[in-house]
Amino acid sequence: MKRISCSGVIYKYTVYSDSSCIASVFTKEYGKLKMFMPKAFSKRSGIVKFVPSTLDILRKENSDLFKLYSYSPDAKYISFLEVSDISIRLNLIFDIIDSLLPLDESYEYLYKLILNINQENVHKAIIYIIYIVLKVSGSLPSFYTCRVCHNDIEALSYYLEGDIICDKCVGGKKLPIPISNEINPILKALSCNSSYKNMSISKTQENNILQLFVEHVEVVTSKKLKSFKSFRELLFYL
Ligand SMILES: [Zn+2]
Repeated sequence: MKRISCSGVIYKYTVYSDSSCIASVFTKEYGKLKMFMPKAFSKRSGIVKFVPSTLDILRKENSDLFKLYSYSPDAKYISFLEVSDISIRLNLIFDIIDSLLPLDESYEYLYKLILNINQENVHKAIIYIIYIVLKVSGSLPSFYTCRVCHNDIEALSYYLEGDIICDKCVGGKKLPIPISNEINPILKALSCNSSYKNMSISKTQENNILQLFVEHVEVVTSKKLKSFKSFRELLFYL
């Protein structure tokens, strides 16, 4: 096996007593990977989460695990760690990537979208990025047609256990989440990059859409996304 150099973001890790750790990384070339980092925490080094880095790795034989030889974070992206508006959103994005994407499959477009995040666009970018994660993982619900009657969704619609249903079909169903007229056009615009680019999105709209996406990810995976709770708590302080 050959050592390979790739570009990736470390988004999660578990430390062991000998200061080694197993990290989860999202790379441009190979998608999601698990990586063993010997002596990850020494006097001279630590782990920089969320900052795109150059990694020198080797796949262990007969294993999903890679071993890390060296890694250098790119200083150009230090805001990914230091600007909390960005880092709390990356935390949520990578939590969803971790839940929905398989190991060892490359998603270069998604990686590029993440690298394009900055302080100005982060509120809009997070919605588009999670939309793309849902899409490439095959978990995207249809925002345009009702699951029950298959008619186009005109105005108000509802989310119920993985599906979008229209106003007329919702009667009698238990606890659907309404999708307001405020966010419906944004959800529809997501399928067309240029119309999404021209939209302006308020913090409330961002929060409502993320809430819907998170609910959907939890339905699809039957697991709670812890990062969303901390995301909403932190929003009050930023
Ligand atoms: Zn319907």
